[in-house]
Amino acid sequence: MQNDSWQAALVKISQTLDVQRFESWIKPLVLLPQTNPGNISFGVPNKFMIAFIEQHYGDLLTKTLRSIDSSIESIGFVANPNIKAAIDEPVLTSTQAQVAVISNKTIRATPVQKISISSRVDKRFTFNSFVVGSGNEFAKSAAFSVAQSPGKTKFNPLLIYSGVGLGKTHLLHAIGNYIESQPDKNKVVYLSSEEFYLNFIDAIKNNNTRFFTDFFRSADALLMDDVQFFSGKESTQEEFFYIFNALYQAGKQIVLTSDLPPNLIKGLQDRLISRFHWGLCVDIQPPDFETRIAILKKKSEEQKLNIPECALVYIAENISSNIRLLEGAVIRLLAYSSITKIDLSLDVVKEVLKNSTKNTKSKITIDTIIEKVSEYYNVPVNNMREKNRRKEVAHSRQIAMYISKQCTDFSLKTIGLNFGGRDHSTVIHAINNISVLMKTNISVSKDVNFLMSSL
Ligand code: ADP
Ligand code: MG
Repeated sequence: MQNDSWQAALVKISQTLDVQRFESWIKPLVLLPQTNPGNISFGVPNKFMIAFIEQHYGDLLTKTLRSIDSSIESIGFVANPNIKAAIDEPVLTSTQAQVAVISNKTIRATPVQKISISSRVDKRFTFNSFVVGSGNEFAKSAAFSVAQSPGKTKFNPLLIYSGVGLGKTHLLHAIGNYIESQPDKNKVVYLSSEEFYLNFIDAIKNNNTRFFTDFFRSADALLMDDVQFFSGKESTQEEFFYIFNALYQAGKQIVLTSDLPPNLIKGLQDRLISRFHWGLCVDIQPPDFETRIAILKKKSEEQKLNIPECALVYIAENISSNIRLLEGAVIRLLAYSSITKIDLSLDVVKEVLKNSTKNTKSKITIDTIIEKVSEYYNVPVNNMREKNRRKEVAHSRQIAMYISKQCTDFSLKTIGLNFGGRDHSTVIHAINNISVLMKTNISVSKDVNFLMSSL
C-alpha cells in the first residue's frame, strides 16, 4: 500500500469520526514499510493505544483500507516502531507522526510532556443544601459517614447509583467539600469518568502515564462520577483498575457513582464489577411528594422567590421523577418574576411551566383519573373522594387507585390522600385486589385497559 492510498483512507476516516477521536487515535498511526503486500502495519506510540485502536477502530480501518485497496488481507500494529534510525527520542506526538505519514521524511519525536489534570470540588453542593427524604436518606447517611472518616468505614468503595438528576453528583461534591473543610487536609480528587478517560488519552499521547497514575494514587479520597462511562473502554478500565487497587490497599476512600448497579453496566470488566461490590452499593430513588415539596421550598428560599403553597403542590405533582427538572422550574419562575415583576399565582405558574410539565409521566393527574373513572362507572366524583362504602363506589375507587399507581409517579401515600385521606395500606389493598381481578375477570381487565388508554 502506498502512502497516497493511506492519505485517501485518512480523509475517508476523518469524515466518519469526530475530530477528537480522529486526532487522538487515527492521526497518530504511522504507516510502516511493507514486507508483505497484503499485510499493512502501523507504528503506534505505545501498547495502550494498540489495545484501544484494535478494539475500537480495527474494523473501521480494515474496511476503509480494503475499500481503497482490495488486496489488503490484514492490518497490524507495532508499539514503538522500529524506525530508530530516524528518531532519537521515545515517542511520536500525533502531529509529528502525521508529518511523517504525509511527507514520508524524517520522523522526529518529542520528549515526555507535562500534563495537568484539573479536579475541582463544587462549593455549591454540600450536605446542608441536600434535602433528605425517604428515597435518598440511606445514600446520604452513607455519604456522610465516608466524609467523616474517609477510608475508615466499611463503605469502601461507596457506590451510589440512580437515574439522572437525583443527586449523585451533588452527594459526591458534598463528600469532597466536607473532607476539604476538615483540618486533616486530606487530598480530594473529584473527576467524572469522562474526564478521567480524556486525561488518560492525553497522558498516553504525551507519554506521561506515570504522572497520570501518580496523580490519582496520591489522593486520600477519589470521587469518580458516572463510572458507566468506562463501559467498553478497556485500556481506561485497566488503568482505573490499578489505581483502584493501589488506593484501596493504602486504605484511601473511593466513592463512585453510576446510572445503574455495577452488575448491570454493560461492557464493564468483571474484576471491576466485583471490586465495586466490595464496599457498599446504594441507590437513590425518585423523591416522593413530600420531598419534592421540601426541595421546591428550599430552592425557592435560596432564590428568595415567593411561590404560594398551591403552586408548589402543582409543581410537585407535575414534575416528579427528576430533581434537576424541579430546580429548572424554580429558575424559570425566578426569571419570569424578575423580568415581569408579576406575583406567582397558581395560574401564572401553570402558564410559565406549561412546557416543562408537558412530557412528564405525571402530566396525568390523579384528578383526571378520578374524573374519567367516575364518568365511566357513573359514580359522582365526590363519592370517589369520600369514605363511601357502597359496592360500586368502592370498586370504581379501587380501579382509580390502581390506575393512579400505574400511570403516575405519585407515592402510595399521595394517592391515598387524594381518595379521602386513606392510608397507603388501603391503596396497596386496592392495587392487589384489582391486579387479581384483572387476571380472573375479563370485563375488569377490559375496563382498566380502556380507561388507561383513554388517558
Ligand atoms: P445526578 O448526578 O444524579 O444526575 P445531580 O446531583 O446533578 O444529579 O442533581 C441534579 C440537581 O438537583 C443538582 O443541581 C442538585 O443540586 C439538585 N439536587 C439533587 N438532589 C437534591 C436534594 N436531595 N436536595 C437538593 N438538591 C438536590
Ligand atoms: Mg451526575
